[in-house]
Parts: sequence; structure tokens; C-alpha cells
Amino acid sequence: MPTHNATCHCGTVRFQITSPLTEFTTCDCSLCKMRGAVMVKVPEADLTVTAGEAALTLYQWNMRIAKHYFCSQCGIYVFHNKRAAPDHYGVNVRCLTDVAIDAAPLRATEGENMSVNPVGAQAHWLGP
Ligand SMILES: [Zn+2]
Repeated sequence: MPTHNATCHCGTVRFQITSPLTEFTTCDCSLCKMRGAVMVKVPEADLTVTAGEAALTLYQWNMRIAKHYFCSQCGIYVFHNKRAAPDHYGVNVRCLTDVAIDAAPLRATEGENMSVNPVGAQAHWLGP
């Protein structure tokens, strides 16, 4: 399995992923639109935090299922535990040290209509 090293901007948080990079995604939910990240989905077991775990800060909103982690020193979003696939992480491709942004095809996923609690809440995400 390929190992890809990753870091936040200041280098406090470091992690590795060991997944093939088959697809990158963007998302148009209200959070992803603001952070503007290109992401790659990796199984939970394929991500290891190697340094700075204590510096990770958790942001949760809306239904408080997804866990959005960012570095408390530099503020960079590093990865999130996905609401639609809780056994996977979405990883900030820009944090991967040796991976070009065009190393995999980019797909825009639809997050805008993921339910926002409580008004108009859907029980389940309808999927990408
Ligand atoms: Zn940092």
C-alpha cells in the first residue's frame, strides 16, 4: 500500500494515509464551501496521526455527527470523520506532502441538500 505523509500548515499535526488515491472530491455543503477543500476519502484504519494529536481541535455543527478536525495552532482543516460514511475520513488533499492536486480525478459531490437541523431535516443523506 502506498503511504502518503501529510501535515498541517505549521507542522504540529502530522499524519499518514495508506490508501490508493482513486478520486478527489469537493462538496457544496455550507461548511465545505467556506473551507474550499479538495478531499479524498480513506477508510478509518488507513489514517494514522503521527504527531500533534493533542493540538487537534474538533468542530461539530448541525446534527453533530461528522467530526471536523483542524489544527489549533494554524487553523488548517486536516481531516474529518464523515457523517455519510462514519467509518471513513475525508482528508484535505492539500495537506498531503507529495501529492499533486490533479493526481486523481476530481468529482463535485452534493452536500448542499444534506439536512440542516431542524428545518427541512432529511433522515438520511441522499448521497453523492
Ligand atoms: Zn498547524
